Parts: sequence; structure tokens; C-alpha cells
Amino acid sequence: MELTAENYYDNATSFDYMSTSLYKDFRKCEAFALAKLNGEYMPVMDPTALLVGNYVHSYFESEASHSAFIEKNKDAMMTKSGALRAPYKVGDNMIKCLEADRVFNNLYSVGEKEVIVTGDIFGHQWKGKIDSLNLDKQYFCDIKTTADIHKGFWDKDERRKVPFIKAYGYYLQMAVYTELIKQTFGVECQPFIFAVSKQTPCDHDAFSFNSEQDQEYLKEALEDVKEHQDHIADLIAGRAEPERCGHCEYCRATKQITAFTSAADIEVE
Ligand SMILES: [Zn+2]
Repeated sequence: MELTAENYYDNATSFDYMSTSLYKDFRKCEAFALAKLNGEYMPVMDPTALLVGNYVHSYFESEASHSAFIEKNKDAMMTKSGALRAPYKVGDNMIKCLEADRVFNNLYSVGEKEVIVTGDIFGHQWKGKIDSLNLDKQYFCDIKTTADIHKGFWDKDERRKVPFIKAYGYYLQMAVYTELIKQTFGVECQPFIFAVSKQTPCDHDAFSFNSEQDQEYLKEALEDVKEHQDHIADLIAGRAEPERCGHCEYCRATKQITAFTSAADIEVE
């Protein structure tokens, strides 16, 4: 299947191409990811955070994209009297915050926006969409909207709080995108993340991945793909049975008690 701007997010493309968001879904809960992919379960989560993120993205893509986004989502974005709802006012602040920054403008604005890339990673086809790509200067940028850049998230494996970039699997995204850009254009680009917070006033910052620790995390993310994606492909093709994580919204919504758990053994975060 040929990927275009129109069909990029279509569910059908997920059967031909793995994406970082789909991969992360499967790594969190196989049963949830598969039910969502097969259209058997609609997530109940509030789409506002995602919409606000896309609202900010569309602004920096082009005027046409931003207008189209507002037109398409105006019912969710506006009150009955036609005023912008509070989360989107925060979105406007985030836009102003980035727009007023010289480094952001110099690096992000000059790149080509929403570039679709594809490639083969350890024997499977992947797709990606680059927020802003600058092949001449050999870098690409991604905008991340987040509640608070300095909030810590508990990491079970590391047994410590980690920043949002690690907690949300952005190392995986950056590693995969670097590889897909290389395969699509033959250019090795370095990743940058521009993060902007939903605080008032907004915080914002630029992140690179050149330190030894960052390089290690990027490598680990690809190792994770190597280890798990054959199994994920089997799940998608119906050759394997998905495991339930037991905690996510899908597992809660479809749960049946199968045995007693000792009260002292209740898993806690
Ligand atoms: Zn689950």
C-alpha cells in the first residue's frame, strides 16, 4: 500500500506498516492493542490532550493545515457561543511560546513539514511522519506538548523516576525515524525534540540525543524492536494469542475474575 498524507493514519495501513505508536501500544498491552487495531474496542480516553497537540502541530505545518484542523474539530474546540475552550487557549499560548523563540524558528521553521518516511527495520516495514526535516543540515525535529517538562514518571525497570522523553517512548520514535530517514533519503540525520509545556506561563526547551546515555537509550529502543516485533507481527496476523496486561482500560472493561489473589500480593505501582 502506497502511503500518502491522506491515508497515513488509516487503520488499514497498520497491517502493512508498523509505526512507533502501534508498537508502543503492543508493548504496553497486547490484548488492548490488538482489539483497538481490529476495531473491536474504542478507547474511552479523553481525546483533548491529543487534539491540543495536533492543534499546535498544525499551526507550525502551514496556515492551510491549521485552518483545516480547526474546521474539522470546531465542535470539540469551541463552546456554544463560539469561544475557544480552555485547553485550546492553552494551545494558543504554547504556539505563541514556541513562535517567540529564535532557536525554534531557526531550526524548525526551515525544515520540510510532515514528511512521510518508510523502511525496513529488522525485516519488517515501518512508517513514520517527520514533523520537520532538514536534509541539507542533517537533522529532524519533533514537537512534543507535555504537562510539565520536568515531571518525573516512575520506571519499573530502572526503579527510578525518568523524564517524559523516556517515559513516553520517544527514544524509540527518534531511533526509528533516524533509520527511516536514512533508508528513504540516504541521509543520516540527528534528532531534536522541541518540548512545550501546558503550564501558565509555558515552559519550552530543545533536546538533543548526543550524550552517551542518550545514545544508549536509542540503541536499547531498537534492541527492544528486534526482540519483540516478530511476535507482534504474529499477533497482528492472528498466529499468536495476545496477552492481557490486566490493568489497562481494555483489560478493566473486559475483565472476568478467574482466581483469588492473596490480599497481601496486590500489585502496586
Ligand atoms: Zn491491558
